[in-house]
Amino acid sequence: MPSPPEALQRLKDGNQRYLTGSFEPAAWGANRRQETIKPDSFPFAAALACSDSRVPVELLFGQGIGDIFVVRSAGNRADNFGLASLDFAAALLHVSLIVVLGHTQCATVKLALDNPPLPGKVPSVVDRVRGSLVRLRNQASLFKPDELFQKAIIHNTHAALEEVTHNCPMVRKRMVAGDLQVLAALYDLESGVVTWL
Ligand SMILES: [Zn+2]
Repeated sequence: MPSPPEALQRLKDGNQRYLTGSFEPAAWGANRRQETIKPDSFPFAAALACSDSRVPVELLFGQGIGDIFVVRSAGNRADNFGLASLDFAAALLHVSLIVVLGHTQCATVKLALDNPPLPGKVPSVVDRVRGSLVRLRNQASLFKPDELFQKAIIHNTHAALEEVTHNCPMVRKRMVAGDLQVLAALYDLESGVVTWL
């Protein structure tokens, strides 16, 4: 298993490859499938990302089958099962990096700012995001709408990271041991660039 800095470098290099349009078919091929069903094959990283169809986690990090253990939800926030899944990745899959990935133009964050009436169970994901934006929404008049939206996306990503580091005991244990790092990042839908926060 790579060290946390090595895992981070893999994701950075992978995002560079993605930006240049170089795709590695081998990472998604039959041989790779065979390799990754072996009991000693583990992902090196985990991610908590938005369900948005424009955020293809493995692709934007230039990775393939078996590389990243991904938890997704609208607004990249984890409920109890999401947090338990990340603890699973930390304790049983021995990932050395967890990325909490926000993205530009996140519709869930926009709904949390705009506060329209929402149907069905949709409010449960939007309310979770809104809960971390209370202070920012109180200062809304200080910012232009685009600026407020961007800040809200970053706030929400940091709040998601805090939840992972505070509420996942196995993540925390491995962080304290120094062999797991949890980082926040922002994916730009338009440019494809991942910025580490
Ligand atoms: Zn989103």
